[in-house]
Amino acid sequence: MGRDEVCILCGIRPYGGPSCFGATEEIIAQITDDVRAEGFTDRRLSPFDVPNMLREIFQQNLADLDPSYHASLHPGYDKDCIAIGHFDRGGGYEPCPHAGHALHPPGDDVEVRRVTDESTAASFITLVELVRGARVLHNAWTTCTTSGPSACNIWLHVGCWGHLQYWLACTRPPRAGRTGQPLSLAGELYELTASRAEPQDEYCGGLPAVDYGGALDAFMGTQYQDYILGPRRGARHLARALGAGKRGTDLVPALMEDVRFWMWARPDMWPRAPHAGPYDAPLGTEPAPQTAALCMLPNELLPELLQHCELDAVFALASTCRELYTRVLAQPTLADTLHRAAENRGSALRWVLPAPTLRVEWLAACDAMRTWLPAGAPPPLTFDEMEFDEEEDEDADFVPPESESDEEDDEGSMEEDEDEDALEEHMDAGADPSQDDAPTEDASPADDLSLPISDVPIPLPQDPSTLPLPLLPLFEPAFPLARFLDAVRTSASMRARRRRWGLVKQWDALFAAYRRDGWERDVFAPPGTVWAVGEDGVLRCQCEVGNGA
Ligand SMILES: [Zn+2]
Ligand SMILES: [Zn+2]
Repeated sequence: MGRDEVCILCGIRPYGGPSCFGATEEIIAQITDDVRAEGFTDRRLSPFDVPNMLREIFQQNLADLDPSYHASLHPGYDKDCIAIGHFDRGGGYEPCPHAGHALHPPGDDVEVRRVTDESTAASFITLVELVRGARVLHNAWTTCTTSGPSACNIWLHVGCWGHLQYWLACTRPPRAGRTGQPLSLAGELYELTASRAEPQDEYCGGLPAVDYGGALDAFMGTQYQDYILGPRRGARHLARALGAGKRGTDLVPALMEDVRFWMWARPDMWPRAPHAGPYDAPLGTEPAPQTAALCMLPNELLPELLQHCELDAVFALASTCRELYTRVLAQPTLADTLHRAAENRGSALRWVLPAPTLRVEWLAACDAMRTWLPAGAPPPLTFDEMEFDEEEDEDADFVPPESESDEEDDEGSMEEDEDEDALEEHMDAGADPSQDDAPTEDASPADDLSLPISDVPIPLPQDPSTLPLPLLPLFEPAFPLARFLDAVRTSASMRARRRRWGLVKQWDALFAAYRRDGWERDVFAPPGTVWAVGEDGVLRCQCEVGNGA
């Protein structure tokens, strides 16, 4: 039987949010009651008019009512997902039954797969490999379903995984695995999820410790996350639109606000400029002059403070008095604030910036941001135009300055840096990669001992997926930051992004507890249990009792 399982991070199924209203006469009656409860009355309307207008809306296709909603209903990244766990030929593994319960392999050596084509509840049939930026597809099962024996494998949207890597703020070091080595972020996420006292919901896959903000209500008691009206809260916006004289399908935007439809939008579509710039005119009405105590702060302290404010709070602060309005919304102040947010995992504004862990997102953000620059402004400097050491220029494995390693392991990335330094030393010592004619066969084995073969730098062709990321147009002096951030506040995509950020902040707390206290529940096979794939292609434990002894 078909069934939807949701991403443990965002609570949305693999291929995006709901697409049909799911209206019944009962729901229409409830909405009508809610509209009345909001105080809306109009003597020119009969008691049947509002329900009739609702029926008229619900009979239509959402795509016909508003194509922009349809366009936003897609998780992006070719609907790819990230699967984390242990995968054999059948896509999962067989738990160890020898302690009286089903016990699972720990998170030490989890595999991280990019997968797509969900066949049924969290079982994917295609493996995606990115080779020099191109998608190479293989047929292979990957099973992450919460029901059935291999219940510890997990999956997330590609975007959710990238955002977790960039946004997770937990100052505690990663936990050590069975080998004593720190677990990777994937290994920790696997163990954390599997070891919760309240496990994943066996039906939809959500984690009870996470508040998905109504996303699971779109199931409306069925096995599919199909119903737009499920997450509805009241009829405040609908009543207001009716009060403003809107009728029929003109009520759709208000209705979509009441059902919080923005939460399904792709969270990586930054607002584009509504018209050609420049945008140097003041933003709205300036407040009356008045002196807030905050005005006593020196200018340099303002960005330090603002990086810890929610976006709405930044604008609220700006509206307290004329002096703060000018100082807070000034381009250099906001640019400095966002620079700090990019460098500080504790900043409340980090989500406004694209994640360097998601290349596609970064490029899309640059594209949208460029539309805000005044025509004729010099194009933003690209990495190509910046000065680099020649050796660095040839480095095909360039990692952008803001990016984090896959493992989220600061010590790990420092080690990598050291490796690079070591490599450069080798190169300085005369191991010139351009010397194609360097004799190899004549070299005696003794000569090679000092330089392991893996240390010899081999020039690689340019890989489009590892080219340096361009600089964000956001930090150009001519960028209208206040206007842009105001548009960010109201964009459906950015509201969905802020929602995902809030979800990652819930994981901050889950990770802090897990890194401090460890598992809430031990579901893992005892140390020393060996797992191996048998001739039948099944990954299972090799306990003696299991070998028919
Ligand atoms: Zn997700
Ligand atoms: Zn066993």
